[in-house]
Amino acid sequence: MILHQNSGKSVTVIGGGVAGMSAACALAEAGLRVQLVEGRRFLGGRASSYLHPGVQEVIDNCQHALFGCCTNQLGFYRRIGVEQKIHWTREMTMIEPGGRRSLLGPSCLPAPLHDVPRLLSAHAFTLADKLALGRAICALLRPIPADSTESLGDWLRRHKQTKGALNRFWRLVIASALNAELDSIALPYAAMVIRGLFLNSAEAGRMGMSTVPLSELYAGADDFLKARGGGVLLSTRVEGATWNEAVAQWTVQTSSGDLRSDFVIVALPFEATAKLLSHMPPVEGAEALAEQLARFEHWPICSVHLWFDREITELEHAVLLDREIHWMYNQSRLQTGRGGHYLELVVSASRSFAALERKAAIELALAELADFFPRVKKAKLEKFALVKEVRATFGVPPGIDAARPTAISPWPNCFLAGDWTATGWPSTMESAARSGHLAAEAICKMIGEPRTILDPDLKPQGWMRWIR
Ligand SMILES: Cc1cc2nc3c(=O)[nH]c(=O)nc-3n(C[C@H](O)[C@H](O)[C@H](O)COP(=O)(O)OP(=O)(O)OC[C@H]3O[C@@H](n4cnc5c(N)ncnc54)[C@H](O)[C@@H]3O)c2cc1C
Repeated sequence: MILHQNSGKSVTVIGGGVAGMSAACALAEAGLRVQLVEGRRFLGGRASSYLHPGVQEVIDNCQHALFGCCTNQLGFYRRIGVEQKIHWTREMTMIEPGGRRSLLGPSCLPAPLHDVPRLLSAHAFTLADKLALGRAICALLRPIPADSTESLGDWLRRHKQTKGALNRFWRLVIASALNAELDSIALPYAAMVIRGLFLNSAEAGRMGMSTVPLSELYAGADDFLKARGGGVLLSTRVEGATWNEAVAQWTVQTSSGDLRSDFVIVALPFEATAKLLSHMPPVEGAEALAEQLARFEHWPICSVHLWFDREITELEHAVLLDREIHWMYNQSRLQTGRGGHYLELVVSASRSFAALERKAAIELALAELADFFPRVKKAKLEKFALVKEVRATFGVPPGIDAARPTAISPWPNCFLAGDWTATGWPSTMESAARSGHLAAEAICKMIGEPRTILDPDLKPQGWMRWIR
């Protein structure tokens, strides 16, 4: 079967994650005819939701948080008209075992001081922790060379961080945002997270969560493409692609037939891109790309989904200190119309938790949850699910930037996207959205209709305007 894409310039976007969707929608808006091809039954990739057969509930594969500084992800949401489905918060509650709480969040002081008053009054940190954190964060106000080969772990040792600062801030908040261990994080990425979330402005650091399951959010992308003469092919795996020089067109071989188009965007995770390379035409540069791809490493994220017979906490979300479980999200409060008493617990960057058997993982999670919320002991657990995403994110160790290719591929009329490409961002939905926008910009430039698609960064506020 040949599925023709008929008028104007056409593009096949391979992979319906945030990168593929962002690229596809931006190109459709620019007037190209776009076919988005996704192997699974639903859009979203590593940030998606589905009906879990064990609990008969639609759940996200994991809670996905975004921040005010994620301008391209927000640009994508605005484009498809779903930005009002994001719930924003400026506060973060840290809870110690035993239940004592500390509330972090902005004050009316100018950036970068806006978060300082609440940090100073937080019970979660001793005076020595606060002094150590203050010293380190001030040091990060100085520019960090982008090619620094130092790891965050080494840098923290040099800056004499206390145990409390290490465990309760650097490990839990920063390493968990980057989903890796401290020694496996390149310093510039850690500095970028600190600046983005805590220093540049209160707006940049606000946290957003979807009020609907993630794949429901992306229904907007499907409608957007269809309304502009494009479409989405679900349950369609791409198996290879060939380039016809004579007509300057690609033929993409899929499990549902061949697709012809003028351009192709490969918006797959790094390992799926590596697999596809051997089914693409041989070309100079493909081997070097394969070598770059081989340098990426995965880190896991696990989520435990628990339904109780009663409310466990009135909090929407919290950071849980000193335990294996890191984050609690009260989905019954966060998601519209959810009902019941559904909590989701997230464990980042823990290969030991990911290796646990299901029963052991649930028992550990429940026992730890009770250390923070005593109501768990009296509550009845009605149902539960454990989602282990072993290939959740790629690590950003020192030197990783040399392995991240730009949108330009070794093949003619073929572009690369995906969170792992050279966006300057760690493995996040923002990186994926940026990569999609960069690939779309490259195609518009190539057809002689250049336009700016990449959404600009938020401008630093307060005194941060003068601190570079
Ligand atoms: C558990 C977990 C928690 C996370 N938490 C956060 C968070 O809180 N905040 C945040 O910003 N980021 C988070 N991330 C990271 C974020 O999900 C990813 O960085 C982002 O979604 C990557 O998007 P992508 O489009 O680059 O890749 P993907 O989402 O992997 O999309 C690629 C798509 O290609 C499809 N595909 C693969 N092979 C083929 C083929 N041969 N043919 C057709 N289709 C194919 C896949 O099915 C997939 O849909 C988390 C990730 C996980 C897994």
